[in-house]
Amino acid sequence: MRKKLFSLCLLLIFLLFPLQSQDYGNTCIISVEKTSENVKSLKYMGLDFLMEWEGKIYIVATPEDLQRLQEKNLFYTFEELALPPAAQKELSLQAGVNGAYHTYSELETDLLSLEEKYPQIVKVFSLGKSLEQRNIYAIKISDNVNAEEDEPGVLFLGCHHAREWISVEVPYLIGKYLAENYSSNAEIKNLIDNSQIWIVPLLNPDGLEYSIHFYRYWRKNRRDNGRNEFGVDLNRNYGYKWGHDNYGSSPDPSSQVYRGTEVFSELETQVIRDLCSTRNFHALISYHSYSQIIIYPWGYTEEKCDKYDQLDKIAAKMSELMQEVNGRTYTYGQAGAEMYYTNGDTTDWAFGVYGIPAYTIELPPVDQLRGGFFNSEEDIQSIFSENLPAALYLIECAIQNYESKKENSEKLYELKEERRKNLYIKGEK
Ligand SMILES: [Zn+2]
Repeated sequence: MRKKLFSLCLLLIFLLFPLQSQDYGNTCIISVEKTSENVKSLKYMGLDFLMEWEGKIYIVATPEDLQRLQEKNLFYTFEELALPPAAQKELSLQAGVNGAYHTYSELETDLLSLEEKYPQIVKVFSLGKSLEQRNIYAIKISDNVNAEEDEPGVLFLGCHHAREWISVEVPYLIGKYLAENYSSNAEIKNLIDNSQIWIVPLLNPDGLEYSIHFYRYWRKNRRDNGRNEFGVDLNRNYGYKWGHDNYGSSPDPSSQVYRGTEVFSELETQVIRDLCSTRNFHALISYHSYSQIIIYPWGYTEEKCDKYDQLDKIAAKMSELMQEVNGRTYTYGQAGAEMYYTNGDTTDWAFGVYGIPAYTIELPPVDQLRGGFFNSEEDIQSIFSENLPAALYLIECAIQNYESKKENSEKLYELKEERRKNLYIKGEK
């Protein structure tokens, strides 16, 4: 039975992606029940996790992965690629294979037009170029945007992983919201006037384009590793506990969690390293998908970090604010304890080197049916809406912490309720 299903899976993949075969060979999608026993075993396998949803863990698996799972007596099920059913109602679909999701060039256009519209507070930067010569764009949002001021920086990152298209949209829309509401919303103005917000919505432009045009499940960047193997997992290439073990990342270039030849070997992670070394960041969110969870350091170990309580408290508040918007609950916890191990990821590095609150937010797969294993384009707005108050809260935390530090206060990352009042507009979409 299993063999039969496997052939069916291969056939389906071949039919869907007939032009590309070398990069991902015989990969297919499987699911494993999320029991604590299974989670324990999976943690040590360095697999390509697609998403976690309703008690199941979905994995993009190669035949070798399947063999390893069998050796560990882990039972798995082949999942058919869910295709969108015929539309039940008129959809607001946009033209193009990527629909309402940005391509690289669409994002470029939108970022530049945001700067053109709000030149006083928005400035577009190219942090550097990718391997395929695409710009890695950042926007800075602040008053006196051309100056580096004595204000805390907050960094929002998107799309380390190519197939996680929703992770481009959320940070981009946060930037757009901030710019558009600066003149009409006193609280937003207050945030922008007192901080320096940096947004890098598309860290992996080569990977995104590959995911749009060739292979939807692509995860890494497009580094040629030789032997017809491509890609480094950018979220395993940062310079803190890099290569700590071979569970949280892999030394094998064919692995989907390949960490690269050395610390910061990739242009994409280098630009973040360089940006952080020259700016004054006090908080960070890196958006990923799909799990509906907020996670914080450490990812490389189950041991707690020294600011565990503070990180947890902020995560709890973010989760609460998100839940208020659409009723969806984002669970939260330490990455290495909640999920699988990761080493060399963004947040361990940001926290390990700079000691700042750093979060990975795994966005939810809201509509599995229409979006297959991915979000439908109609989910973009609701996912953005629920993430907005959490992002604003973290900016406010950074400002207050910065001010209280300046006043030599002992108080860390605590938000005074009176200042939070009226910050979020009810029903804002
Ligand atoms: Zn990811």
